[in-house]
Amino acid sequence: MNFSGKNVLVTGASRGIGQAIVRVLAQNNLKVWINYRGDAKPANELKAEIEDMGFEAAIIQADVSKVEDVASMFKAIMESDGQLSYLVNNAGITKDKLALRMSLEDFTDVINANLTSVFITSKEFLKAMSKKRFGSVVNISSIVSEMGNAGQVNYSASKGGVNTLTKSFAKEGALRGLRFNAVTPGFIQTAMTDELKDDIKDEYIKNIPLKRFGSAKEVATAVAFLLSDDASYITGEILKVNGGLYM
Ligand code: NAP
Repeated sequence: MNFSGKNVLVTGASRGIGQAIVRVLAQNNLKVWINYRGDAKPANELKAEIEDMGFEAAIIQADVSKVEDVASMFKAIMESDGQLSYLVNNAGITKDKLALRMSLEDFTDVINANLTSVFITSKEFLKAMSKKRFGSVVNISSIVSEMGNAGQVNYSASKGGVNTLTKSFAKEGALRGLRFNAVTPGFIQTAMTDELKDDIKDEYIKNIPLKRFGSAKEVATAVAFLLSDDASYITGEILKVNGGLYM
């Protein structure tokens, strides 16, 4: 893949899909900023792994749902590198419950972590890169943004918001040379889906045309394509990476 940019920030990057995105982008010769929220240890381990492979990485702490944290993170990156070519909004949480049992706090916590965070970071990205007239953002949404899901009123609403936010930022960003896209992964093998019981996993797999969960690397490769120059005429796209589960 071709990248004329130099560096990328991946949010919530020390495990799961974020970690796979870091690996793929580093292997494409981008300096990768690994954002983490709490525990620096896995972020440092990932940084060391990337450096051992001969690529460049840095770690940076921020809770992406907090305006001040994100502003400080962007300030530090801009001071260090003078630009931020690419942003991947990957950080996300679930707090699953049937709607009748879901508290308002369960709902707003997920909206803040998954949707408000993407508004905050994307706005900072626009501020940082508009004058440079170059940049690309990929947001990690979810298949449930398109299908809905019982027990995930909060999560599916947050990801549905990410899709339309992506399209609106794409329209505003286009005037400034910036592209915004999203991917909607289906069931991907990570800690998030490891929580599912085996019989529930088997039931889901029956309905997936490709008959398996996807890998984090398969999501990461789609993200890298949308970020790259190879996707230079693609903006406002919501790309499904779901093994055909929802078409
Ligand atoms: P994961 O293993 O739970 O990783 C999520 C990461 O986000 C963690 O590193 C977490 O950090 C970080 N995070 C959460 N809130 C944050 C915040 N406010 N600020 C900074 N970091 C924060 O999840 P995953 O499965 O890799 O999912 C990654 C993304 O893909 C999410 O947006 C998820 O919704 C989406 N997705 C996943 C699947 C799937 O099947 N796994 C399917 C569709 C979409 P902490 O360690 O501090 O909690």
